[in-house]
Amino acid sequence: MMLQFYRTKGLCKLKKIVWYIQFELPAVLRYCKSCGTKREYMCSGQFRVNAQRKHLDIWLIYRCPHCGATWNLPICSRISSADIDSDLLERYHNNDRKLAAQHALNMGLLRQNGAIPCAPAFVVSGENLPSGEPVELHLTCEYPLPVKVSAVLRQKLNLSRRMLDQLIENGMIKGAPEANVLKQKLDGHITLTVQYDATGL
Ligand SMILES: [Zn+2]
Repeated sequence: MMLQFYRTKGLCKLKKIVWYIQFELPAVLRYCKSCGTKREYMCSGQFRVNAQRKHLDIWLIYRCPHCGATWNLPICSRISSADIDSDLLERYHNNDRKLAAQHALNMGLLRQNGAIPCAPAFVVSGENLPSGEPVELHLTCEYPLPVKVSAVLRQKLNLSRRMLDQLIENGMIKGAPEANVLKQKLDGHITLTVQYDATGL
């Protein structure tokens, strides 16, 4: 016998809208010796792999945008060449973007190495919200990002902080029951219920 399952959310199914968040690898704030001041070092997305005898060192390279000085974020230090998977090593050699993002977004690793991670620049793409109609809004990104959900909403809807606060207070933007939309970060797939009327603001 075939069993059919129906998933219902409320009385009617809401229109589903997906927004994609694309980001740049975040810069880090560090003291630049050549400039003599703190600078936002840009992440090059490139790795430096150094093999000496049977040992490997791997770094992710950052650059000061003012003087070009480099800073290397240590990824692996003095590991045995036999201990690293050959496919993984190949990805480091090829400056694999996913690997670069994985390390550039590792806040703990950055802080341990004396760098203060900056918030990554991001772009939101996806359908605009229909005015006045409640929708189920999905925010998706490739990696958990240290970016607030409220920053994504403000950028895409062109809202001031006060306008966004008002929409949340009035229940026009709702997150998961236990989530605080104003404080929540893009730490995975986020689903919101939004009823947005641009003319009512
Ligand atoms: Zn510099």
